[in-house]
Amino acid sequence: MKNVAVIGAGTMGNGIAHTFAQSGFKVQLIDISQASLDRGMATISKNLDRQVAKERITEAQKQETLANITTFTAINEGVEYAGLVVEAATENVDLKLKIFKDLDEATGEDTILATNTSSISITQIAAVTKRPELVIGMHFMNPVPIMKLVEIIRGYTTSDEVTAKIMDLSKSLGKIPVEVNDYPGFVANRILMPMINEAIETLYNGVAGVYEIDTVMKLGMAHPMGPLQLADFIGLDVCLSILEVMHDGFKNPKYAPCPLLVNMVRAGKLGVKSGEGFYDYSQSRKAETVAKMFL
Ligand code: NAD
Repeated sequence: MKNVAVIGAGTMGNGIAHTFAQSGFKVQLIDISQASLDRGMATISKNLDRQVAKERITEAQKQETLANITTFTAINEGVEYAGLVVEAATENVDLKLKIFKDLDEATGEDTILATNTSSISITQIAAVTKRPELVIGMHFMNPVPIMKLVEIIRGYTTSDEVTAKIMDLSKSLGKIPVEVNDYPGFVANRILMPMINEAIETLYNGVAGVYEIDTVMKLGMAHPMGPLQLADFIGLDVCLSILEVMHDGFKNPKYAPCPLLVNMVRAGKLGVKSGEGFYDYSQSRKAETVAKMFL
């Protein structure tokens, strides 16, 4: 499994490619957009520079990591020798089903197919392939090179052997994998999103302001950032879509998205990525804002 293909070079895909390449894997990074590949490689290089500046890695290790990554713009170009594919393309169910059908054709029959989806059913994705026992969720956290957790999601059909392999592989990347079953929101988002939604509901009901809500949770609960700031960082559109998946999947009104969240997404206020959400990011560059949140 020394060859790993990563589908999607966006926020998560470039972080996943960086992490595998730094652990010595040969990575084929694939995106339909050349601009995304260029941006993704520039981000990896910049993040490696930061590691060099902090003396966590040497310049030579940076160069080795970059040399381990090759980029492609078509799935059928980069995946044929991969022992594992980690899909981190845009969160859209039809797109992911199509990608997995294509991967099923383009990869060797023993290749494990993993998805980094935040909310789409692993079982549903596995069902479009001829190898449902080899399909699994590998839910990395953002920013991938820094965050230790990987939620390993077993679909209804995922085999014990594949689960054990992916748990071991995640450990070899220096991560801490946690095995969970495939139900809406898995574990991370099932607990996180209702908290974020409740914070938005608290704001919507006029109980307190943005600063006050985030300060209560930061200082009172020792959270590294408040739930509204975290929502901005994740993307309000992403939060809304995960809540909708859980609301639909469980048919339980406790997951109903707050109307304020719905309105903000309709208005294009998506958080850090659009320059405004619960906070205003227009004065500072996005990347710097994101980096500061974690340093
Ligand atoms: P993103 O929008 O930053 O990147 C998605 C990339 O996928 C883009 O570069 C796009 O060009 C590419 N793409 C679209 N269609 C493709 C195709 N057919 N083949 C190859 N590439 C294609 O998205 P992201 O935030 O990196 O999210 C990717 C996945 O990771 C989603 O499933 C998301 O739910 C999940 N995720 C995101 C986060 C997060 O904090 N952003 C956290 C955990 C999981």
